[in-house]
Amino acid sequence: MRINRAMRVGIGAAALALAATVTAGCGGGSDKSALENAQDGKLTIGIKFDQPGLGLRNTDGTYSGFDVDVAKYVADKLGVKPENLTFKESPSAQRETLIENGQVDLVVATYSINDKRKEKVDFGGPYYIAGQDLLVPTANTDITGPDSLAGKKVCSVKGSTPAQNIEKNYPQAQLQTYDTYSLCIEAMRSGAIDAVTTDNVILAGYAAQSPGTFKLVNKPFTTEKYGIGLKKGDSELRGKVNDAIQAMIDDGSWKAAQEKNFAGTGFAVPAPPTVDRY
Ligand code: GLU
Repeated sequence: MRINRAMRVGIGAAALALAATVTAGCGGGSDKSALENAQDGKLTIGIKFDQPGLGLRNTDGTYSGFDVDVAKYVADKLGVKPENLTFKESPSAQRETLIENGQVDLVVATYSINDKRKEKVDFGGPYYIAGQDLLVPTANTDITGPDSLAGKKVCSVKGSTPAQNIEKNYPQAQLQTYDTYSLCIEAMRSGAIDAVTTDNVILAGYAAQSPGTFKLVNKPFTTEKYGIGLKKGDSELRGKVNDAIQAMIDDGSWKAAQEKNFAGTGFAVPAPPTVDRY
């Protein structure tokens, strides 16, 4: 068969399309390192979109919360202005993959540092220390802690440390896992589940959003150290992220960001954590 001009153009277009697909790689991830992207003046940061006080996409398309403020502060120290940040929703179960694939440069998303996750990613921080707790309807009186969950429908999120903890250590609970905590909250609002479990600071944000509807049991039973997730082995980036967190603590922005974002939750500003220079 002879290849005519039209066919050549067609083949060329197909090759181009293929090249574009390959470049886009795993769903739009850039091949550049986070620091190279920062040098180009832009960064993509994974946050939660549905956690009031921490990471929230507002109806007007803006983003707010403590994690968002931490992300903006760290990005600024890396030379990237807030208007050049792209925030990408990073559900709990997807965070390691998003980092490994280069779809995000950093994750600031109520992301607990632990050894299992450290097999795949590295962490700057911690920049906040939370603890797993329970949220129940205001009228509930019999759920007082994780030991009172036998036979109760408890909701948490796939791939989260609180879900893993319930599964492993409180098997008497009827655990249901959804993709996001806001789905758990809606299920509890409709009466389909009895309690939501995750970090106290996340639950307090939902309680503050619906006054009089839910209450925090307020007996934290784990330690959740929030880190900034980044590509494994990028120690230069980790060092810079840690410097930025330390600067945020030292210049008062860390405290101010909590006062702003946790207002109405009853959460006092704790002593700042010690950044782990592992
Ligand atoms: N901090 C816990 C975690 O990283 C729970 C919060 C979350 O799922 O984002 O798994």
